[in-house]
Amino acid sequence: MCTDRTAHSTGAALAGPGVSLTLNTLAEELLRNIKKLCSVLLFVRLKFLFGSLALQALDLVDQCSVTCLSSPSGRKVFQVLGGSGKLYSCLASCHYCPCPAFAFSVLRKNNSLLCKHILAVHLCQAMGLTQQESVSDRQMSDVLSGLGNGT
Ligand SMILES: [Zn+2]
Repeated sequence: MCTDRTAHSTGAALAGPGVSLTLNTLAEELLRNIKKLCSVLLFVRLKFLFGSLALQALDLVDQCSVTCLSSPSGRKVFQVLGGSGKLYSCLASCHYCPCPAFAFSVLRKNNSLLCKHILAVHLCQAMGLTQQESVSDRQMSDVLSGLGNGT
């Protein structure tokens, strides 16, 4: 134990201000790499859970395609601009999207938990990248009544 203490203090004595600066730089680089590593690990998990949907949803996130509409009554609807330019009004609270992929893969075939639009909504919310827009209760009513029409 005494030997360890001696070795440690010798190392500290040898360190000097230049080495200390290098250690700080190394520590900062390590922390940056940890953040990158966490991002990579999260992406691997997303890809594992959602397959190709993960990449498609992240593409929507990159394009800032998700907008949260909120009305004075407290209702919220997420609108996602799809890759084809069509606007989908999604209900994240009950995992519903009017897109054809949701109807086929989630509702009919039951081989997917959600579509890329719903996943993009959740990712945008988690990353704080959702666009916000306030609408009147009347406008919200129009959006909600259009849900059954695939809009
Ligand atoms: Zn969808």
